[in-house]
Amino acid sequence: MPLFKSNRLTVSAVRRHLKDAGGPALLDRIESISVNESDITLVLQVPETGASDTSAIEGLLSRLDGVSRVRVIETAHSAQPDFAPPARTDVKRVRKGANLSASVHAQATPSAGEGTLSVPGVTHLIAVASAKGGVGKSTVAINLAVALRKTGLRVGVLDADVYGPSLPTMTGTVSADPEFTENKKLVPIEAFGLKLMSIGYVSDVDAPMIWRGPIVMSAITQMLKDVDWGQLDVLILDTPPGTGDAQLTLAQRVKLSGAVIVSTPQEVALADVRRGVAMFGKTGVPVLGIVENMAWFEDPGSGARTYIFGEGGARRMSETLEVPFLGEVPIMSGLREGGDTGEPAANAETGAIAETFSRLAHSVLQQLESLNPKPAPSILFE
Ligand code: ADP
Repeated sequence: MPLFKSNRLTVSAVRRHLKDAGGPALLDRIESISVNESDITLVLQVPETGASDTSAIEGLLSRLDGVSRVRVIETAHSAQPDFAPPARTDVKRVRKGANLSASVHAQATPSAGEGTLSVPGVTHLIAVASAKGGVGKSTVAINLAVALRKTGLRVGVLDADVYGPSLPTMTGTVSADPEFTENKKLVPIEAFGLKLMSIGYVSDVDAPMIWRGPIVMSAITQMLKDVDWGQLDVLILDTPPGTGDAQLTLAQRVKLSGAVIVSTPQEVALADVRRGVAMFGKTGVPVLGIVENMAWFEDPGSGARTYIFGEGGARRMSETLEVPFLGEVPIMSGLREGGDTGEPAANAETGAIAETFSRLAHSVLQQLESLNPKPAPSILFE
């Protein structure tokens, strides 16, 4: 064991090693290298070929003296200041096989103007948002979509939650492989009478990716524009959770008829709801209202309610913020099971879940009608 480690692990030693092994092409892909004693973390752009080479690079670096742990994170794109379109090529790779065209990047730049992105043939784009992850946003989005469809409307769902696309699992369409039309548009997957599209259908969801604001917007733009949505009364956008750069940009750029905000009654979740409402307010998107999810748990035997996350918090918050309250969704095991088995529980003909979401759908349509200058879609009773 030498007293002085002449080959101490440094960022430049790592860089040199990568250059020797992979040449300038590999160096060009490096976004950042950090060395913490014997740990290396490398952030790397996905190679031009799209084929992930993280394990090869991890192997390469772990052979360096003094290394105990190597972590290679693939990122979808190079760091770009703000919303600059890609400088190098006219096509930008976000994942294996998925490309963003230059025109899509152009649409995601500020010059596109605020709230201009709409989809021809789609009357109402409605965002289902949450300021926090794990509050049941996707569960509400898909079951609300089913309930809207049951009223006779033509409904689609765009799973824009690029950080954790769950629509394929929740609708049992994980193995679906969308086809292209002759004019190169993706054909949405159809299930439960809905048109569905998700980044999960076209990306390798297990590959670690870093989605920064601009690329999130570009991917969403592409899924809005390059999908053959056809004629829809409502397209539900299941948005990424949070109120960061990506969400703000989405609220600014997409011509939304309104936003539905999902929260639990818990104080910590409610504090974020305030930020969510403010974000939509600032960007001129009407807040259709707040849904209180996981409002209570009802004992199946006695019918007694337990307010696990507190009672009525979201309703009170909607009063404080002066936005409509759309209704409560209790904790119901059928909702969780439906999400896991791939059949949205609201699709049932009858029962508590179907009724809950039917009421919610009617509240949403009512708000859409009162808040939106466009005529709300008419409801057909079957
Ligand atoms: P988010 O989209 O906010 O991250 P999800 O919709 O993925 O949250 O929900 C998180 C988990 O909670 C899922 O397992 C889902 O099935 C479950 N869940 C959501 N809402 C309810 C509910 N009201 N009753 C029972 N389980 C629920």
